[in-house]
Amino acid sequence: MAIIEAKNVSYIYGEDTTFAKKALDNVNLKIEEGEFIGLIGHTGSGKSTLVQHLNGLLKPSEGAIYIEGEDISKLGSKIKKVRQEIGLVFQYPEYQLFEETIIKDVSYGPQNLGLSKEEIDERVRDAIETVGLSYEKDGNKSPFEISGGQKRRVAIAGILAMEPKVLILDEPTAGLDPAGRDEILREIHEIYGKKKITIIIVSHSMEDIASLANRIIVMKDGKVYMDDKPREIFKHKEELEEIGLGVPQVTSFMRKLKEKGLDVDTSAITVAEAKNILTDLLRGKDNV
Ligand code: ADP
Repeated sequence: MAIIEAKNVSYIYGEDTTFAKKALDNVNLKIEEGEFIGLIGHTGSGKSTLVQHLNGLLKPSEGAIYIEGEDISKLGSKIKKVRQEIGLVFQYPEYQLFEETIIKDVSYGPQNLGLSKEEIDERVRDAIETVGLSYEKDGNKSPFEISGGQKRRVAIAGILAMEPKVLILDEPTAGLDPAGRDEILREIHEIYGKKKITIIIVSHSMEDIASLANRIIVMKDGKVYMDDKPREIFKHKEELEEIGLGVPQVTSFMRKLKEKGLDVDTSAITVAEAKNILTDLLRGKDNV
């Protein structure tokens, strides 16, 4: 059974007002446990609106969201459980840090779950270490005295401490410098490996998600425009460019080589793959 399913989901902001805006238009999706999904699209294509539906923060104007087969609009007060199971890290989550210490901030969520103190402590320690910070060294620091990238990781730890089944991150690299960006993507990759959870990363950058995601969903005008494995998605360079998205630089590079007459396989989506293809090609040439 799909962990999340969206069936014919449409959403209109300001319905019945003169400002009505259709942000989602008949979205159908099935997300299976263990997937690592890149949700990509131009600004305004509906990505944030969609992810806020997946944990019940927004309710569809039409259609329904199912979590493990249950229509979440029928859950009533049990919706809290969905919010815990489907963890959503907002854009610029560091603005929501407010406690005096990192430990207190990360504890905030689990404290509302009715857990024992030992269990809370264990989860908080694990979450802080999982995002690459030290519980002992950093735990008692103020979230305001650490770097921007570290603050963001503390915010992610706060969600991880809730032990969600699905972790959704809305533009986790927004506003970070290249080093901070690589660092956070590496952490997310590690979380995926370590925690065996389902991950959805929202991004408008193919570079960010190309080497991480095993499925890419492209949004356009509130609709699912493409939904496939990265390798298949990147075959549609022209369509992607038309909607303001590109393919990873390395895919673009391989296509340019082909255009210039070199007989290369253009399917590479990571630098490592491109290197292998080019090395094989050169070796082949040596043997001739
Ligand atoms: P994305 O995350 O892909 O940038 P959004 O889901 O934020 O897209 O927005 C989808 C559409 O809904 C856009 O046209 C946007 O202007 C509109 N929208 C988003 N939030 C609101 C809101 N609170 N009120 C009215 N319209 C909104």
